Amino acid sequence: MARTTPSKTSPQTSSTSTDQLTFQNPVTRFPNITPPRQDQPEPGLDQELIPQTDRGQGSYRGTGRLEGRRALITGADSGIGAAIAIAFAREGADVALSYLPDEEEDAQEIRAFVEEAGRRAFLFPGDLSDAQFCDSLISDAVEALGGLDALVNNAGRQIAVEDIADVTDEQWRNTFDTNIRAIFRLSKAAIPHLPPGSTIVNSTSVQAYKPSPHLVDYAATKAAIDNFTKSLAQQLAETGIRVNAVAPGPIWTPLQVSDGQPKEALPQFGKDTPIGRAGQPTELAPAYVFLTSPESSYVIGEVLHVNGGTPIT
Ligand code: NAD
Ligand code: MG
Repeated sequence: MARTTPSKTSPQTSSTSTDQLTFQNPVTRFPNITPPRQDQPEPGLDQELIPQTDRGQGSYRGTGRLEGRRALITGADSGIGAAIAIAFAREGADVALSYLPDEEEDAQEIRAFVEEAGRRAFLFPGDLSDAQFCDSLISDAVEALGGLDALVNNAGRQIAVEDIADVTDEQWRNTFDTNIRAIFRLSKAAIPHLPPGSTIVNSTSVQAYKPSPHLVDYAATKAAIDNFTKSLAQQLAETGIRVNAVAPGPIWTPLQVSDGQPKEALPQFGKDTPIGRAGQPTELAPAYVFLTSPESSYVIGEVLHVNGGTPIT
């Protein structure tokens, strides 16, 4: 049934009684951006992105849903991972932030937001395609946080290449090492530390289901993450550790301008979704909070699609 428009005199519509954060049109909640063509070297910085992203820094409101939790978030300096870090801190969690050394500026900004929320932030720069770094990241995070009960495997690389003839073995290996082997290594190293009630949430993608022709390696890793999530979730269910994933659609982040998309595609980015616009990183955060909070106790091996309405069958 169509929603009736209340009259201007109705008390429900006065500017003081309508909460602008709890009632919003999703179409216009964020601007329909038309990003200019731009280029950044991999991995890209949020601070140099045009236009800037919304990571919830001015809007995310916590309600104590992750009070006292200890979370490690990879790729936490920018984009979706930064939005997750801000949300987790405002929900009451201490966070360890993993990112590449070149991203120090972005990471320091997110550290400040976490500390502003009254939570502790620990910074761990390093390369997740390095097996030893994955192992030491887990032990260092456990030591810094005083334990670990939430792992968010969100880091990823995406390099668009039009022709498979130009996908080098090195690129294929690097994409697989970063996007899926690191998730295997981090999960394996973390599990012995995770008490019952802990959660693992992986970032997969709409690309796992609707792969683009120019993302053969990336899309294959995202399908692997989806599958890995479902098998590990069953294996760990009885231990009280829940494993789930989030599958974002087109979200405006530095990944897109550091060769994640063909340059000519940037102005149209996200406009072909049913909602008609690209998503902002903060629109992903509630999905990760939900899957990490104890409220989702019966949600196991699930993939939550946050993609502006693209149907996944
Ligand atoms: P982003 O560039 O802001 O974040 C990706 C992060 O991955 C980087 O900040 C970097 O810290 C980390 N990373 C990359 N290579 C690494 C390495 N070798 N070692 C350590 N860290 C490394 O972009 P984002 O879009 O927020 O990406 C976050 C996740 O979301 C990725 O897994 C991406 O595949 C996924 N995703 C993004 C979109 C989108 O449209 N932006 C869509 C679907 C899925
Ligand atoms: Mg980054």
